[in-house]
Amino acid sequence: MDDCLFCKIARGVVPSRKIFEDGELFAFHDVAPQAPVHFLVIPKRHIANVMEAGGADEALLGRLLGTAASLAKELGLEEGGGRFVVNCKADGGQTVDHLHIHVLGGRSLRWPPG
Ligand code: AMP
Repeated sequence: MDDCLFCKIARGVVPSRKIFEDGELFAFHDVAPQAPVHFLVIPKRHIANVMEAGGADEALLGRLLGTAASLAKELGLEEGGGRFVVNCKADGGQTVDHLHIHVLGGRSLRWPPG
């Protein structure tokens, strides 16, 4: 989508601190990290949020989570773990309308979130 920030990041039009890229997915460090490790994994194809993903996207959703977990291990979270978050729409606190998984770790995270 032309006016979507994360589509632009996936295309390299807007710069990011890239961690990983393949044909379907793109991962990059969050610009305002809330933990020592905080990165985002997105599908390159525009999907506004997780509830907009359809049945045909199930494999993609699986890859999104699996890739987030693999990258979390690569970035040092294997021992301590972390949090994998998908915010959705206004009540979920989603501010960028392009599906993304947050991965946070490197410190103890409280639950529940505020
Ligand atoms: P959410 O509130 O779940 O939609 O999360 C959006 C996330 O995108 C926030 O954590 C922002 O800090 C992050 N973000 C916004 N703009 C950028 C950017 N240009 N590069 C990296 N992360 C960004």
